[in-house]
Amino acid sequence: MHPLTTLADDERLLRDSVYEFADKEIRPLVREMDEHAKISPALIEKLFNLGVMGIEIPDNYGGSGATFFHSVMAIEALSRVDPSIAVLVDVQNTLVINALLHWGNDDIKQRFLPKMATNLIGAYALSEAGSGSDAFALTTRATERGGEWLLTGRKLWITNGNEAGLFIVFATLNPEAGYRGITAFLVERGFPGFSVGKKEDKLGIRASSTCELLFDACRVPKANVLGEVGKGYKVAIETLNEGRIGIGAQMVGLAQGALDHTIAYTRERKQFGKAIGEFQAVQHQIARAATDIEAARLLVYNAARLRDAKRPFLTEAAMCKIFSSEVAERTASLAVNLFGGNGFVKDYPVEKLYRDAKIGQIYEGTSNLQLQTIAKNIMG
Ligand SMILES: Cc1cc2nc3c(=O)[nH]c(=O)nc-3n(C[C@H](O)[C@H](O)[C@H](O)COP(=O)(O)OP(=O)(O)OC[C@H]3O[C@@H](n4cnc5c(N)ncnc54)[C@H](O)[C@@H]3O)c2cc1C
Repeated sequence: MHPLTTLADDERLLRDSVYEFADKEIRPLVREMDEHAKISPALIEKLFNLGVMGIEIPDNYGGSGATFFHSVMAIEALSRVDPSIAVLVDVQNTLVINALLHWGNDDIKQRFLPKMATNLIGAYALSEAGSGSDAFALTTRATERGGEWLLTGRKLWITNGNEAGLFIVFATLNPEAGYRGITAFLVERGFPGFSVGKKEDKLGIRASSTCELLFDACRVPKANVLGEVGKGYKVAIETLNEGRIGIGAQMVGLAQGALDHTIAYTRERKQFGKAIGEFQAVQHQIARAATDIEAARLLVYNAARLRDAKRPFLTEAAMCKIFSSEVAERTASLAVNLFGGNGFVKDYPVEKLYRDAKIGQIYEGTSNLQLQTIAKNIMG
């Protein structure tokens, strides 16, 4: 039996090499990407070359042939430096590739997986203006005509919307059928009737694009249905159940990044003739944050290990997401406090992490929805 945080050699190697990459290649760009609300295209190319855009894609499709836990390692390591880059990689791996691997037939896998390991970015489009937490109240409509599907409607809040070439889009064949009408379609950028609309101007994870998607009788070939017609709700639920472990990892990485900065700063900053890190009150606050992060990390690793072991993980995934997103917010807030005035300005990195932390309690199921899942599972 291994302790939960004991990593296999390949897991440790991946985590360390991704962190090293993030420190060298991403850190110098973080502020500029945040200010311009755009991920550097050259950086995206480097992420593909690093192999983190196709972690679970099997070797025969050109991917890294690794596990979900490896994705968690990469997301945590990236988020320690920039949670915006972490979410790009998170959506690519834990939502889009995950769904293609689980629900794609051979033809779909052959057509998309090699590209996703090389240069194709994915997005996952479920939410709409009127359906967020109540995701299956979606109204984007799919109708069959002349041997193809026509999609009409509007998606909102879609991560990677600006960069993606492939979109998993959930639409309903019949709104009256409720969740049973929902089907997952693979929409490729350039399909007639599809366009990317407004890009949101956000509080945090600003470099990550969040976009509206517009479908005006968008033509989708029959071969681009993912999973069975009418079973899109299963694709959505099962993928999101796993995806939220990735958000847990993003939040643990963010909290760790905030703590790293705080420890370094409190060693340097002097008041009353000594480093503020020498005051016991400050040490205790840092010790508490480190304890919080360790607890959050254990929840995330356990949920990811359960998932890879094909054991039930639903409750653990919801717990890891709600807890780690709260830890991220608390730790980033402490970081701002301990940086004093410097915590409040953009010249120092913790102001951004404080803004970035908030999203963990909103996307891939708000905290209230996580509590609902946990309560349902433990109370019946
Ligand atoms: C930056 C960003 C990126 C995103 N990326 C994606 C993406 O890539 N793909 C995608 O499909 N979506 C994405 N989303 C959408 C995201 O998943 C939704 O915003 C989220 O699910 C919440 O939905 P909502 O915004 O409609 O809030 P609402 O559902 O309106 O919720 C508002 C509040 O009401 C509470 N609430 C709602 N119902 C209940 C209930 N039954 N019990 C108790 N409380 C309740 C919620 O907890 C919340 O506090 C993204 C959102 C953001 C902000």
